[in-house]
Amino acid sequence: MADVPESTLPYPPIHQDKKFVVLSDWDGTITTFDSNDYMTDNLGYGKVKRRQGNLDILSGKATFRDAFREMLDSVAERHTFEECKAILKRDIRMDAGFRDFYTWCKNNDIPVVIVSSGMAPLIRAVLSNLIGEENSKQIDIVSNDVKVDSNGKWQIMYRHPTSGFGHDKSRAILPYRDLSEPPMLFFFGDGVSDLSAARHADVLFVKDKEDGENDLAAYCVREGIPHIMFKSFSNALSVVQSIVRGEKTKEEAFALSAA
Ligand SMILES: [Mg+2]
Repeated sequence: MADVPESTLPYPPIHQDKKFVVLSDWDGTITTFDSNDYMTDNLGYGKVKRRQGNLDILSGKATFRDAFREMLDSVAERHTFEECKAILKRDIRMDAGFRDFYTWCKNNDIPVVIVSSGMAPLIRAVLSNLIGEENSKQIDIVSNDVKVDSNGKWQIMYRHPTSGFGHDKSRAILPYRDLSEPPMLFFFGDGVSDLSAARHADVLFVKDKEDGENDLAAYCVREGIPHIMFKSFSNALSVVQSIVRGEKTKEEAFALSAA
């Protein structure tokens, strides 16, 4: 069994007695732009270096923890945390199908949990802005955090500082396996922050990005990990519905996606 990294941050309780649980990456999956990429590209050291950092993570040349910290440090050198929050609230948009997807899950007793390598206060601020404070409060967020000093300097605080992932997302998934009747776990992701989760979901959905930055898709193909490509949560919803209603097995859904 893999080493379990010590978590410096608490976890919300896992959802007991559910048949299905949705776990989803936030940046670039629920949102149309990855907010950390957006900050690095526009407020930090720019897209060329950021993209190289992503590719170095994908090839194993750098850890996510170290490369991502460099990206965010380049933003923190130039902008306060509050400036970043205001810019993201202004500019970050949500996948057009996510609201309906979330409502359907809620009405069908399927919890939705955000599992992110971003920083909790930024995710919460943008989420509340997009779906309203009340809905936002009902969604658990398992992410990293931030330390803001009195002089305005800030830095990311990793959930799992001893792990090269910074936040090892498998730790949000694996405890469900220990339940006497584990739920079927759907995981949605798009990028290098999801590599730690990719192998562990029952059904992995990988976002088909128009910008060509399909790092999770490239990883899954390289590693032979079954997955379903999706363009928006509207498309994903019909696949999830067909599995939940028993009209399709997950294997049939994988086969259709590969077709
Ligand atoms: Mg992402």
